[in-house]
Amino acid sequence: VSRQPNDKEFLQAVQEVFESLKVIEKVHPEQLDDDVLTRLVEPERQIIFRVPWIDDNGVTQVNRGYRVEFNSAIGPYKGGIRFHPSVNISIIKFLGFEQIFKNSLTTLPMGGGKGGSDFDPKGKSDREIMAFCQSFMTELYRHIGPNTDVPAGDIGVGGREVGYLFGQYKRLKNEFSGVLTGKGLSFGGSLIRTEATGYGLCYFTQALLKDNGTSFKDKTVAISGSGNVAIYACQKATQLGAKVVTMSDSNGFIYDPNGIDLELVKEIKEVRRGRIKEYVEVHPEATYTAGQRPWSVKVDVALPCATQNELDLDNAKDLVKNGVFAVCEGANMPTTPDAIKYLQENGVLYAPGKASNAGGVACSGLEMSQNAQHLSWSAEEVDQKLEQIMVTIFNTCRDTAKEYGCDKQYEIGANIAGFLKVATAMKAQGTV
Ligand code: NDP
Repeated sequence: VSRQPNDKEFLQAVQEVFESLKVIEKVHPEQLDDDVLTRLVEPERQIIFRVPWIDDNGVTQVNRGYRVEFNSAIGPYKGGIRFHPSVNISIIKFLGFEQIFKNSLTTLPMGGGKGGSDFDPKGKSDREIMAFCQSFMTELYRHIGPNTDVPAGDIGVGGREVGYLFGQYKRLKNEFSGVLTGKGLSFGGSLIRTEATGYGLCYFTQALLKDNGTSFKDKTVAISGSGNVAIYACQKATQLGAKVVTMSDSNGFIYDPNGIDLELVKEIKEVRRGRIKEYVEVHPEATYTAGQRPWSVKVDVALPCATQNELDLDNAKDLVKNGVFAVCEGANMPTTPDAIKYLQENGVLYAPGKASNAGGVACSGLEMSQNAQHLSWSAEEVDQKLEQIMVTIFNTCRDTAKEYGCDKQYEIGANIAGFLKVATAMKAQGTV
C-alpha cells in the first residue's frame, strides 16, 4: 500500500484476492508463503511510453501508453489492450493482476499482463485510429513477442484496432507471427474469438445455474454494456432460452420488455458505431433511461459486461429487492466489494469475472496454439473446447470453494485455485 497509495483499483483487486487467501491460512497454512505473496503483488515489468500522433487537422496529439508485464510464472504474459480516456497505471495494474489468476484458471500456459492508453477512440476517424495504433505499436513492439508477451483486445480495442497493431508489428519486425490474438480470420485469427468472452460467460453461468437446479430457460436477464462482451453474451443467453431485456452504454440503458433485438444493436454499435439510445427510434415500445445503469429492472440473472465498479451497493439492493438469483460478471471487477457482500448475504449466487469471463483469453490461448501449429480449427471445434474449458473452470471454483469450507463462494474458489498453480510455479523457479 505504501508503495502505491493512489492505485485504488489495483489495491481493490489485491484486497479481494488476499481476503480469499485468508481462507488458505486457516485451512492449509503450509500453502501460503510470504516470499511468493511479496513478489506476486509487484509487476515483473511496467512500461510507460509517449504515443504521439497527428489528427485530421494536422495537429500533434500525445497520449500515454502502458504495458504491465505482471507475472510470467506459468507462460508468456497475456492480456488485452484497453483504449479509454479513464486508463491510468492503477487500472492497467488491476487488470494485469486479475489476469494472472484468470489465465491460471483456464488451464492453458499463459502468464498475466495488460496494456492500454488514455486515447479515446470515440469520434475519431478511421485514419486517426490507424495513426494512433501505428504509433502505439512503434514503441510496444520491442517489448512483446509470440513467446514473450501476447496482447489482445479489450475496451476500445476490437478487430479493427488489432489489425492495425498487427500490421505495424509485422512491418517493424519483418516477421509474421502470433504476437497478438483477436486477429482477422484471414491472417491467423481464430474462429469464435470475437464471440468467446460473451459465449464463455453464458457457458459458465449455465453450469452454475445447472448446479443449482435450474437453467437459462425462461429466465429474464439484464446485461450492461453494448460492446463485444455484452453483444455475444446477449446472443448466447438468448440461444439458451433466456430473454435479455436490457443493454447500455456509458450514457444510459435501454429496456425492451419483448427481448433485445440484437441485430439492431449490432447494426448500431458495429456498423454505425452509434449510441444505444438509437435503439428506441426503431422500437418505440422499448424505453431509454439516460444517466442510469440497468440494475433497477426486475430480472433473474444479471450479467454486468461494461466496466469496473459499475454495480454498486445501491444497485445490489435493487437487484435483491427484485429477486435476482445470480450475478455473473462479464466485465472485469464490475461489482464493488460492498455490493458483492450484500448479494452473498442475501443468498444471491455471485461469479467473479476472473472465472466467468475467462472465455476470451481461453480462446486467445487456442488461437496461440493454432498459430504455433500453422493450422486453424473449425468454429464447432473451438466452440466445443471453449464450453469444456468454462465448465471445467466452474467445477474448479465450486470444488475448491467447497474443499476450503466456503460452499458456493465461487470467488474464493477462483482466487485459491488460480493462486495455488501460480504460487507453485513461482516457488519452483526460485526468487526471481
Ligand atoms: P467494448 O469496448 O467492446 O465495450 C465496452 C462497453 O462498456 C461499451 O458499451 C461502453 O460504452 C461500456 N463502457 C465502457 N466504459 C464505461 C464506463 N466507464 N461506464 C459505463 N459504461 C462503460 O469492450 P469489451 O466488451 O471488450 O469489454 C467490456 C468488459 O469486459 C471490460 O471490463 C473488459 O475488461 C472485459 N473483458 C473483455 C474481454 C474481451 O475479450 N473483449 C475479455 C475479458 C474481459 P461506451 O460506448 O459508452 O463507452
